[in-house]
Amino acid sequence: MSQPEIQQHDAKKLAAGYKKSFRLVEILAILSFWSLCLAIAVKAYPFHLTHPWVIVAGLFSGFLFADFVSGFVHWMADTWGSADMPVLGKSLVRPFREHHVDQKAMTHHDYIETNGANCLVSLPVAAGVLFIPLDIQGWVTFALFSFVTLGSMVFFVMWTNQIHKWSHLEPEQTPLALRVLQKLHIVLPPGHHQRHHRAPYDTYYCITTGWLNWPLAKLGFYRHAERFITAMFGLIPRRDDIGLKAALAIAPLVMTEKPAELISPTQHP
Ligand SMILES: [Zn+2]
Ligand SMILES: [Zn+2]
Repeated sequence: MSQPEIQQHDAKKLAAGYKKSFRLVEILAILSFWSLCLAIAVKAYPFHLTHPWVIVAGLFSGFLFADFVSGFVHWMADTWGSADMPVLGKSLVRPFREHHVDQKAMTHHDYIETNGANCLVSLPVAAGVLFIPLDIQGWVTFALFSFVTLGSMVFFVMWTNQIHKWSHLEPEQTPLALRVLQKLHIVLPPGHHQRHHRAPYDTYYCITTGWLNWPLAKLGFYRHAERFITAMFGLIPRRDDIGLKAALAIAPLVMTEKPAELISPTQHP
């Protein structure tokens, strides 16, 4: 089957959507986020002698959970909504659109532009984690495990965009230690991530370690979720990212059922 024509936004216009005024918000978000992470570590620290394995298990499950969250948020931003939406469009969706048109643009972003938005959206979760009580009799192990898992998850979710950016560096720009981590697949390897960058950009969304990409693709996780959302709300996945024509051609529900209202001429851009 021939590939439908992919229509994307203009890279320059997308890049221009990053406003300098947003930088102050990003700087404050980064400072607040690191402070909350420090507070989470300080709260867990006294348990390292009494419950060391609970802490290790929590750190690992949070690391795994972060990969899932990175994929889920990436799928949401790639698949639904538009870069023109108020607030979330400019701050969250726009960088994802830009990234599909110009993969290398993010490698020129500094620490603030790379991590600011991630810190901002992670702030409420990081603050919420601190409210988990660790002193309820009989529940300490469970509470500590939940606390460390969520703390580790939010910490590694914050690293997601940085790790993703590293996967787009040229080999000669990549420090040796990072190349080793990528080769061992402890962080997202560049070759693995390139599967996501093949049009129509509809698989391998996880960008922290990428460990969950294969199982989620095998399970058809995102296709099932897209079918559900299309059935519930009539939205067409990837419409804003690749254009209506290509989006309609590959939308799972449209392909199987073709409901008339989904392909009515009124929905053409
Ligand atoms: Zn993407
Ligand atoms: Zn990428």
